[in-house]
Amino acid sequence: LFEMKHIKKSFGALDVLRDISLEVDKGEVLSIIGPSGSGKSTLLRCATGLETPDAGEIVKNGEVGLVFQNFNLFPHFSVLKNIIDAPMRVQKRKKEEVLVQARELLKKMGLEGKEDAYPYQLSGGQQQRVSIARALCMNPDILFFDEPTSALDPELTGEILKVIKALAAEHITMVIVTHEMTFARDISDRIIFMDDGVIAVEGTPEQVFASEHARMKEFLGKFH
Ligand code: ATP
Ligand code: MG
Repeated sequence: LFEMKHIKKSFGALDVLRDISLEVDKGEVLSIIGPSGSGKSTLLRCATGLETPDAGEIVKNGEVGLVFQNFNLFPHFSVLKNIIDAPMRVQKRKKEEVLVQARELLKKMGLEGKEDAYPYQLSGGQQQRVSIARALCMNPDILFFDEPTSALDPELTGEILKVIKALAAEHITMVIVTHEMTFARDISDRIIFMDDGVIAVEGTPEQVFASEHARMKEFLGKFH
């Protein structure tokens, strides 16, 4: 469904992605973990077209969606307008049809009655649920999340992790950068540990958490 082949990306003298290859299958949930600065966000930004790799190839079929750490909602748009804007403007879909889908998604996200609210009137968890609804309204074939809960306090974090688990149960293909290790272990079919611009460890949650890789153990140690 989605493939990166030998992706390289540098910023000046800094080699941020050094030959990254990965594949995501339909219905799969892949989590990416790793230390700060290891290139996780840059990888997602290349995957979703926000950044152009210096070398390598990206093979994708269809639409990709991205949910950001800081929600990235349009502050001057209502909740509903945030969700319907891109499907109408970018995908040129009919307003009536997009509205029906947007309202279904709001209901699914537990945001009924919030369609005319503005982002500043919502909690962080509600804003993140709007941004997930916005991504889903594009009918993406694959949905990327960049630390979707790291701007939220623990209570709201649980709320968002539940939403993502529900999407996994629907077999939506997802790639999730997260620092929530228990969540990653529970939800993922496969986990990648990134270190210094390379995929250092890759496997099932069991394999990755049992790995003897020194940097990986050091990283996991920080969560105990
Ligand atoms: P974190 O866990 O803190 O979010 P990360 O793994 O997502 O870290 P990236 O954001 O991908 O890391 O950044 C990797 C490195 O690339 C960092 O050293 C960062 O400063 C650098 N970098 C990222 N984007 C740019 C940019 N646009 N210009 C210059 N340097 C950048
Ligand atoms: Mg990041």
